[in-house]
Amino acid sequence: MERIGPLLLIEGPNHSKVPFSRSLYLDCAEKVLFDSGADPDSLVRVNQEFGIELIMNTHYHPDHTQHNYMFPHAEKWINPIEFKTARTIDGIAKSNGIYQEWGQAGIEMWKNNLPEKWINSIGEITGTYEYEIEYLFGDVKVHFLHTPGHTSGLGSPYFPDLGVVYVGDYDMTSFGPWYNGTDGDIEEFIASGKRLIDLDATTYITGHQKGIFTKQEFKTEMVKYLSIIDHRDEIIEKYARKGLSFEELTEIGIFYPENTLDVPIFKTWERSGIRKHLHRLGLTVSTKDGELIGTK
Ligand SMILES: [Zn+2]
Repeated sequence: MERIGPLLLIEGPNHSKVPFSRSLYLDCAEKVLFDSGADPDSLVRVNQEFGIELIMNTHYHPDHTQHNYMFPHAEKWINPIEFKTARTIDGIAKSNGIYQEWGQAGIEMWKNNLPEKWINSIGEITGTYEYEIEYLFGDVKVHFLHTPGHTSGLGSPYFPDLGVVYVGDYDMTSFGPWYNGTDGDIEEFIASGKRLIDLDATTYITGHQKGIFTKQEFKTEMVKYLSIIDHRDEIIEKYARKGLSFEELTEIGIFYPENTLDVPIFKTWERSGIRKHLHRLGLTVSTKDGELIGTK
């Protein structure tokens, strides 16, 4: 387990790729875990050694909250914006774009396939932290930066004295930025990305894959990462000019590989993601026939 000062990095299986993530444990009097998406056996070992007392969830997504249930005696806090959303299955289904794309029937279908452990995990969340104020755990200062875009509430734990920030799903993966829930927002994503590179920090820890970046590395990667947004715009605009309908656009594979679009949740996010780019491009989907209106 890698250690940065009092922080232990707990990896998820397969380089912390989705459906897992990297967790942080802050070795101090309060015994704080940031996100619970890491390898469950590693989390058990950390718990046996230290006894986790408080879990801070950066946001409600299952790859960051799914092992909360393993620590029944720990307090669990999430950001104030997502506290309510995360407490109801319907709230989560709506944030995930399921209601927007498929209506109530889609929600009922989705509910049948939900992992019970995750439901228990988010159901156990008891409280919220505040953004942008200083918490002191042991002698370690922590601020939860409000970094919306990936979700509306994503909190990024920032340790100013250590020069470390846990940037969660601003993850610099080749997939690119993910803002596909109805609570995600492209412009906010870009603004949060810029805020993070301007932060007084030397070490950036992502939730997935590579993991540790120097400030310079993070800055360089962020430029590439955010440029994927413009690339998506270009592809969608090109096809829209060719006269493709919304339904046809959702079959190409702009976010997800084409051969995975038969997975209902990927198809949902492909659709909701394309809608956001259409909006950005000033295009709307005709409610009558699904044709795109407003091609410049
Ligand atoms: Zn996420």
